[in-house]
Formats: sequence, structure tokens, C-alpha cells
Amino acid sequence: MKNLKLASREPGKRTIIDIDGVTVGSGLVVIAGPCSVESEEQMLESAHAVKQAGANMLRGGAFKPRTSPYAFQGLGLNGLRILEKAKKETGLPIVTEVIDPRDVSWIAEFADVLQIGTRNMQNFALLKEVGKSGRPVLLKRGMYSTLAEWLNCAEYILSEGNPNVILCERGIRTFEKYTRNTLDLSAVPAIKELTHLPIIIDPTHSTGRLSLIEPMSLAAVAAGCDGLIVEVHAKPEEALCDADQALTPAMFTRLMDRALPLHSFLKSTKVL
Ligand code: PEP
Ligand code: MN
Repeated sequence: MKNLKLASREPGKRTIIDIDGVTVGSGLVVIAGPCSVESEEQMLESAHAVKQAGANMLRGGAFKPRTSPYAFQGLGLNGLRILEKAKKETGLPIVTEVIDPRDVSWIAEFADVLQIGTRNMQNFALLKEVGKSGRPVLLKRGMYSTLAEWLNCAEYILSEGNPNVILCERGIRTFEKYTRNTLDLSAVPAIKELTHLPIIIDPTHSTGRLSLIEPMSLAAVAAGCDGLIVEVHAKPEEALCDADQALTPAMFTRLMDRALPLHSFLKSTKVL
């Protein structure tokens, strides 16, 4: 692909990122947690539940890019303090979203991974700022974006001197209405042909349906993704954001009990 000076695939090169002892790009990494940080109790309960089920990193938004300006926007600094406490208690590194270039440097002090959401994929000022942050970046695919546009956004981050970019396919807009978005699983092998960067799958925002999250997670593992990011809430019925698509801890445990052995089997049989 033209113009990708740093992101393009090079023979034998794969980017492997070490995040506080968790390695992305050489196995299956699972990031789990609620859509947003709502309270200390909710976050800690969810954090312990996902840790117990075997998650490797914890997600939770303190700054939420909501479709409506009147919807819950996140707890901001207080949310980050709660995430800090959750990390202290569970040892799980924190993945959290940044939506404003002006906030990147101080949020980076709380976050182990900075998430760029689908709505901000082409926010070039934000990309440049996370490129300078020194933190690994989880770059979600824009819901209307091609692979080439997405990789050019990764290039923005790499070109600021930050080599640690994790791509995340989270579904794209199509005419289909049954699912929230359409999960483009072909992005996994395609991205591996195009770049050395790791790619993870978000089965939650791509399907928006509880019943589809586990099957699509298993399909993503079989396609060779480097990880999953899944929304899990200790009490989904009380969630302030994305309540309909949050797995319960029991559902998440079941997913892990299937995804991890599937991954090991595919590795041992050299399918992956
Ligand atoms: C999220 O991860 O909660 C989120 C807002 O995701 P996306 O940017 O993919 O919609
Ligand atoms: Mn969400």
C-alpha cells in the first residue's frame, strides 16, 4: 500500500507490544470491562469478575464519545482515579479512551493503553498527540473507513515516533440493521497481509447483540486475531451506557472457557 512508510508489512517483522507484562501480538490477549466507569463499586466489581475469568487487561471509559450530548459523558478525572484503584487491586493494565487532544498527556499518566474510538479515527490532531504520548494506542477502525484509511491513521501515530499501535476492528456500517454494525472479519487476514501491527476484534460494538458476541469471538480467534476487547458489566441491567450488549460475568467466563482452548487447539495443530 502506497504512503505507508512505517506501517507496511516487512518480511519477518511483527510488532509485539509489552504492556506492563502483557504481550500483544504473540498470542491471544483479552481486554474486558464495562463500556464506561460509572462508580467505584461498579468498576471494582466488574474488574474483579473479568480478572477471575482470565482477562489480561481492563477496559472502561472515563470520557465517552456519545451520539447525544445529553447522554452520560463519563466521570472524567474521577473515573480515571477509579480505574487506577481497579488496577491496583487486580493488577490488570488499563485501556481507556481519549477524545480530546488537550487531555492526552495527563490521561496518559493513568492509562496503560490509550483508546481512539471509531468516531475519532481520523481526528488527526488527536492521532498526533497520542503519537507523542509514549503510551501504546488502541486504534479502532472508523465505522465508514477502508483498510487503507485506517492504516494511514496508524501511520500518523507511528510517524510521531510511537511504534506501539494495536488495530481494532469494531464493525462497519452497512445496510444491515439486525446487528449494530457489520463485523468485517476479513480485516484480520487482510491486515496481516498489509502490516506488521497486531489486530484485535471487538465483538461487542460490531454485533450489539448478546447472542452473537461469543460466536463471533470464536470466529475471530479462528481468523487469527491477536486479541478481543469485550464489554462486561457486573450488573448489565444497571449500565449507563451500552447496557444491551454487556456480557454478565458468567457469560464472559463461558466465552473465555471456549475461546482460550480454541486458540490453543488452533496453535497446536498449526492452523494458526
Ligand atoms: C467503546 O469502546 O466503548 C466505544 C465507544 O467504542 P467505538 O468507538 O468502537 O464505538
Ligand atoms: Mn461501549
